[in-house]
Amino acid sequence: MGLLCLGTPLTWDEASKYADHVRKHGITQFLHIWDRANDRHGDDFLWGDEIEYMVIAFDDETKNAKLSLRQTEILASLNKSITDLKCDTPDPMSIPTFHPEHGRYMLESIPGSPYTGSIQDLLSVESNMHYRRLLARRHLNVNEVPVTVTSFPRLGVSGIFTEPHFSPDGAKPSHSLFFPDEIISPHARYTTLTASIRSRKGHQVSVNLPIFNDDKTPRPFVDPTIPWQRSLYPVDNGVALKDHIYMGGVLFGAGCCCLQLTFQSCNIEDARRMYDALIPMAPIMLALTAASPIWRGYLSDVDCRWSVLSGCYDDRTAEEMGRAPLRENKYVIPKSRFDSVGLYISTDWNNKAAYNNINVPYNQEIYTRLVNHGVDKLLSKHMAYIFIRDPLVIFSETIDQDDEASNYHFENLQSTNWQTVRFKPPPPQSGIGWRVEFRSMEVQLTDFENAAFAVFITLLSRAILAFNLNFYIPISKVDENMSRAQKRDAVRQGKFFFRKHVLPPGYISPTMTTPSSSGSSSPLGWQDGIPPKETKLRNGFPRVPPPSMLVDAPVEDEYEEMSMEEIFSGKGAMFPGLLGLVEAYLDTLDINPSERLQISKYIDLVRRRANGSLLTTASWMREFVRSHPSYKFDSVVSQEINYDLMVAIDEIERGVLRVPELLPHDYARSRVNGLHESKYEP
Ligand code: ADP
Ligand code: MG
Ligand code: MG
Ligand code: MG
Repeated sequence: MGLLCLGTPLTWDEASKYADHVRKHGITQFLHIWDRANDRHGDDFLWGDEIEYMVIAFDDETKNAKLSLRQTEILASLNKSITDLKCDTPDPMSIPTFHPEHGRYMLESIPGSPYTGSIQDLLSVESNMHYRRLLARRHLNVNEVPVTVTSFPRLGVSGIFTEPHFSPDGAKPSHSLFFPDEIISPHARYTTLTASIRSRKGHQVSVNLPIFNDDKTPRPFVDPTIPWQRSLYPVDNGVALKDHIYMGGVLFGAGCCCLQLTFQSCNIEDARRMYDALIPMAPIMLALTAASPIWRGYLSDVDCRWSVLSGCYDDRTAEEMGRAPLRENKYVIPKSRFDSVGLYISTDWNNKAAYNNINVPYNQEIYTRLVNHGVDKLLSKHMAYIFIRDPLVIFSETIDQDDEASNYHFENLQSTNWQTVRFKPPPPQSGIGWRVEFRSMEVQLTDFENAAFAVFITLLSRAILAFNLNFYIPISKVDENMSRAQKRDAVRQGKFFFRKHVLPPGYISPTMTTPSSSGSSSPLGWQDGIPPKETKLRNGFPRVPPPSMLVDAPVEDEYEEMSMEEIFSGKGAMFPGLLGLVEAYLDTLDINPSERLQISKYIDLVRRRANGSLLTTASWMREFVRSHPSYKFDSVVSQEINYDLMVAIDEIERGVLRVPELLPHDYARSRVNGLHESKYEP
C-alpha cells in the first residue's frame, strides 16, 4: 500500500523545500533497486486484489443513508480481532488485512497473502472477498453496512450526509464549500495530502461534471444548492459551470472506491510488457465496470469516477497547465497526477516508437542520471516523467533515509502518480518481484461481480503471456478511449479504438500451437504434437524472435473502432475477441468440469455486460433513480431516493433482492465456510 508511516507532517511551504531532496534520494533508492533486481528472474505468479468499501449508516426514522465516520474505531476493532484470528488459526496468512483510505467512512481490504497461480486460488477469490466483507461487517454497528459503491450519491450535499453530522463551516485543509474537515481520515497522510494539493495549485481543486438532462431538469441548470456564502468569494465567481455539477475538494475524487489488481511478473522485462499490454485495457474495463452516475445529489451525464479523481488530484499550477507563461514552474504538464498512462515502456520489438505519440515532459537531469547509470532510455523516461511531480507529503522524521535499504522517497512519488496502470519495482528486503497494478476498474456491488472482473483480467493477463498477444495502439487513442469510456452508457453506445490483429504475425487463432512451441519437434510430455495441459496459471512470455520480414505498416492501419461487443466477442475472422482469447487460454489448463463451470459464470458476466444483456451498475442505478416514485425527473437524487438505493444495494448484495437486469438469474451470494454470518444478517 502507499506510505502510511506516522510522523510530523511538514506544511506545504516546508515540504516544498525538500522536493529536490526527495527526488534525488528517491532516484538513488530506485537505482539501488535496479542494481539489485534488474536481472532478477523466475519469480512465480503471485497476485492480489484490493477492494474499497464505504460504511453506510442507515437512519430508518429519517430515511437517510449516511456515511459513517467511524473508520478509526472500526479499524481498531477489526485489527484487534485479526490479531486474535491469526493466533487461533494454523494458517495466519489466510487472515486478511484492512487499511484506512482517504475518506473517514472508507476501508480497504486485501487478502492475507497474495494468491498463487493455482486454479484453487483463482476459484477462491470470491469467497476470499466475501470473507473480508463479512469480517468487516462484524465490527460495524447494527445499523451499519459495508457497501462497495464507487461514488456516494449524496457526498457533499447541503443536507445531512454523514454520521455524526459536522458542519462544513470553517473547513480548513481542503477549504471545501461542501465538506467538514472531519470527513477526511484522521491519518496525517490524508489531511496533509489534501492541504498540499490545494496549496501547490494555489486554489481549491474542482471538477464540473455535465448534468444529466432529464425531462424536467431546468435549462440552463444553475445549481441553487451551492453554499457560496462559505466561499472566499461569497458569489459564484465563474468556477461552477452552467449545466454542470460543481464539486470542489479533493475528497470528491479521493472519496471514491475502486477495485485494483496487482500481478507479479517473472522478471522486469515481462513486467514491462504486461504493463504495456494492460494500458489499452484500462479504458475498456473502466467502461465495463462503470458504477458512478450520481454526484453531489444529482444524476450526471457520466457513468465513471475517473475524470473526477483526475480533477481532484490535479495539483498543477496555471503555468503547468499551459494557462500562463512558465515563470515559477519548469514544465507544462499535459496530465494530472491522477490520469491515464504517459508512455509505453517495453523494449520488446512489438513496442514501436510511433505508439508513444503524446507529449511526455520529463526531468532531464533525472533522465540523464538514470541513463548514465545504465537504465535504458524508455524506463529512464518513465521514471523521469513520474519524478516531474513534487512530493506532497513529507514527515519530518523520514527526511533522512538509508537509500540502500529504503524505498521511502521513491515511493513518495511513485505512490502519488495515480495512473491507470502502475509499474511496481520490488521493494527492498522483501522477496517481492516486479509487479504491475491494474487500477482503472470501478468497484462492483457484489463480491461475485468483483471476483468475476478480477478473474477475467487475471486470465486475460495469462492469455497475453501464453499467446504473446499484442494490444498496442497509439497512446493518444488510449486517452481518447478513456474519455469515451466515461460517457453515459458507453458500453452499449460507445465505440473504442482497438487493435485489429492481436496475435503474433502468422497466427490466425490462439488455439494454434503457442509460439513457444513452434518449430520444435514434440518435446518431452507432448502427445501427438499437443503440449500437456498446465496445472497452474503461467508466468512468463514465450520468447519469440521478431519475424525476419517485419512489414512496417502505418500504425493507423493497425486499429479500428469497435463496439464493446466486438472487442469482447470478436470481429471478423482475424480477431477472436478478448473472451475467445480467454477461452482458448482456459483450454490450455488442466481444470475439471466443475472448476470450468465456476469460471464460466464469471466469464459469462463479462460477456453479458459487454453485449448489453446485463446492465452496468451505473445504468442500473440510473434506472433505479428514474423509476423511483418520488423522482421528479429533474436530475435530483433526494435523501429518500438515496436511502432506498442504498437499501436495495445491501439487499442485492445479500441476495435478498433479485435484479435480473443486473445479475444473472442464478446469482447467489457466496458462502464462507467456518465464518458464521453476522447476527445482523437475515
Ligand atoms: P497498493 O495500495 O500500494 O496498491 P496494497 O498493499 O494495498 O498496495 O495491495 C497490494 C496488492 O498486491 C494486494 O492485493 C496483495 O495481495 C498483492 N500482493 C502482495 N504481494 C504480491 C506479490 N509479490 N505479487 C503480486 N501481488 C502481490
Ligand atoms: Mg492499497
Ligand atoms: Mg486504496
Ligand atoms: Mg493499489
